[in-house]
Amino acid sequence: MTKRELSDSPVNVGCLGGGQLGRMMALEAPRLGIQMKFLDPGGNKCPAAAIVPGENIIKGSLKDEASIRELAKGVDVLTVEIEHVGVETLLKLEAEGVNVQPSGRVLSIIRDKLLQKDHFLSKKIPLPPYQKTSSVDGIKDAARNLGLPLMLKSRTGGYDGQGNAVLNSIADEDIGEALKKLGCINGSSESSLDLYAEGWINFESEVAVMVVRSANDVDTDSYPAVNAIQQDSICRVVIAPARHVSSDIRSKCEEIARSAIASLGNGASGVFGVELFVTKDGDVLLNEVAPRPHNTGHYTQDACAVSQFENHLRGVCSLPLGSTKMVVEAAAMVNILGAPSGTVEDTLRSSNAAMDMDTAVVHWYGKHGCRAGRKMGHINLTGASYGEMDDNLSLLLDIEGIPRS
Ligand code: ATP
Ligand code: MG
Ligand code: MG
Repeated sequence: MTKRELSDSPVNVGCLGGGQLGRMMALEAPRLGIQMKFLDPGGNKCPAAAIVPGENIIKGSLKDEASIRELAKGVDVLTVEIEHVGVETLLKLEAEGVNVQPSGRVLSIIRDKLLQKDHFLSKKIPLPPYQKTSSVDGIKDAARNLGLPLMLKSRTGGYDGQGNAVLNSIADEDIGEALKKLGCINGSSESSLDLYAEGWINFESEVAVMVVRSANDVDTDSYPAVNAIQQDSICRVVIAPARHVSSDIRSKCEEIARSAIASLGNGASGVFGVELFVTKDGDVLLNEVAPRPHNTGHYTQDACAVSQFENHLRGVCSLPLGSTKMVVEAAAMVNILGAPSGTVEDTLRSSNAAMDMDTAVVHWYGKHGCRAGRKMGHINLTGASYGEMDDNLSLLLDIEGIPRS
C-alpha cells in the first residue's frame, strides 16, 4: 500500500461495528477528510449513528455476507471496531480487490485466541503456557501439565471475560460447571470442544500497550505502557503511564507489544490493543491482542497529541502516523458502567461529578438502553503528576464503586 497524503477528495472508510469504538473513530474522521459508514446490528440506534448521516448506517449482522458486501460498496478502506466478524467474507472481498485493513488474514489469526497464541509462540513472543484442549480428557491432561487453577478459554467470541472459566479442580462436576459457563453444555470426552487451556499467571499487574502500524507496512509505533486495572474481567481504570512499574519494565512491555504486532506482517495495520501480564519476577507475558482501538487506549483522546482513534484511521488509510507521545505527565481513565439500579440518572453520577473537575473530560456513548454493568461512557483525567489526579480519581472511583488500590 503506498503512502497517501491528505487531499481534497474524501477517503471513504467502512467499519464493521458502530459501537462506541466506531463512534469515537467517526468523531475524528472529518478533520482528516475521511467519511465513515457503518454496519451494525442496531442500525440507527447504534452509538456511531449519532455522528454520521443516516444513509451511512447499514443495519445487519457483522457476520452476514450480504450486509458486509453492502458496506463494502464504494469504500476505499474497510476496517473493524471488533474482531468477531465474518472474516470469510472479508477474505473473499479482498480477493475481489477490496482494501481490508487490518487484512482478513490478520483478523483470522487474532479472532481465534488459539491461532493467535500459536502464531505468537512461533514468533517467540513470551506467553503464558497453554495447551489445546478438545475434550474433557484433554482438560484433565492440561491440568496435569499446567497445574491448577487452570484458565479455560473459548477460542472465539469472548469479551469482558465472558468466554473464560477458571477451573480449581478436575472433578467431573467442576469441569461440567466450567463447560456450562462456556456454553459447551454437551461437553463429553467424545465431543470436540472449541477451547484451550492456559496456565494460571499470578501476575503483579496488568499492563496494556496500544501499537499503531501503517498499511504501508513500514511504520510501527506505540503509545506508553499503561496499567489496565480490571474488576471481574472488565477494564475499569487505566493509569498512564503505568504507575508502580519501573521504566525498564515499561520499555520491555512496549518492545514486546511492538514486536508482537510487527510479527503479524503485511496487513497488520491500524491500532492494536496489546494486553500483557507483568509477573513478580519482572517477566512480561502477552495475554491477548485486539486488532482495533481498545478500552485501555481511551486516555489518548485527552492525553496524547494524536488519539488512538485518529491513528487507527491514519494507519488503515496509509496516511502518515501521528505522534503517540503524551502531552501531559499523567492521565487516567475511568469506565462508566451502568449503575446497579440500571437507571441513567444513577449512571450519570460520575459524569456529573467530572463536569465540575478542572481536568476531567466526559465521553458519553449515547447508547440506547442503560443496563447494570453495560459500558456507557468513560472519563479521562489529566495532570502534571499522578498526585495531582489522585483526589479527583478517588472521587470517581468511589462513585463507580471501584475499590481504591
Ligand atoms: P477482553 O474484554 O479484554 O477482550 P477477554 O474476554 O478476551 O477480555 P482475557 O483478556 O483473556 O478475556 O481475560 C480477562 C481477564 O482474566 C484478564 O484481563 C486477566 O485479569 C484474567 N486472566 C486471563 N488469562 C489469565 C491467566 N492465564 N491467568 C490469570 N488470569 C488471567
Ligand atoms: Mg479479548
Ligand atoms: Mg482481555
